[in-house]
Amino acid sequence: MFRGVRRVRRRSSKVSPRRSPSGKRGFRRKAVMSFFLPVLLRNLLKGPSTEAFPFGEAITPKKLRARISFDPDSCALCRVCARICPAGAIQFEKKPDGLEFNLWHNACVFCGLCALYCESEGLHSTNDWHLSHLQSEKYDLVERATVKFQKCTKCGKQKMPAPLPLMAKLYPGLPADEIERLRAMCPQCRKAETAPAEGEPS
Ligand code: SF4
Ligand code: SF4
Repeated sequence: MFRGVRRVRRRSSKVSPRRSPSGKRGFRRKAVMSFFLPVLLRNLLKGPSTEAFPFGEAITPKKLRARISFDPDSCALCRVCARICPAGAIQFEKKPDGLEFNLWHNACVFCGLCALYCESEGLHSTNDWHLSHLQSEKYDLVERATVKFQKCTKCGKQKMPAPLPLMAKLYPGLPADEIERLRAMCPQCRKAETAPAEGEPS
């Protein structure tokens, strides 16, 4: 026991260069003073620099691809979105007066392909990522709307809707009232209306 005490004393009596103020300890003290103290003071004055979430709003990039939103008034019922969706998250169900659009957020992988391929601007990728839910609520997490069939104002037959963004792309340069008149017709009547007369340049 005595030997052990002597050894400890001998070691502690040595003046090690590592323990001198100009050695490692001194360097550490200097580092604390020059790097950490300014940060500490800045944080004390300005508040924490870490994200406030979940106690406050999280920073969300504007271009984040998250929840897909659907606008039934801009849907042409072409069903390209359902074909392109790699996750099979989009389905259409036949209803007596139209087609019901269903997008299962629970299955969506936020690839954004549906919004990219929708020529009619019926689908948009939003940056809303607040989709966490209980397992019991997974079947409620759906974007659902019925897009109704319409009647052609010329022949009276049932037709798919022709949304304004799509018609504006199909007939660039046409006045707004003419586009409105054409979009109320079925494709066959529209074709007959817009076909050039014999001898007229197309
Ligand atoms: S949302 Fe767009 S792609 Fe899907 S059916 Fe409607 S128009 Fe077509
Ligand atoms: S974002 Fe991708 S996975 Fe989600 S519904 Fe659209 S195509 Fe399907």
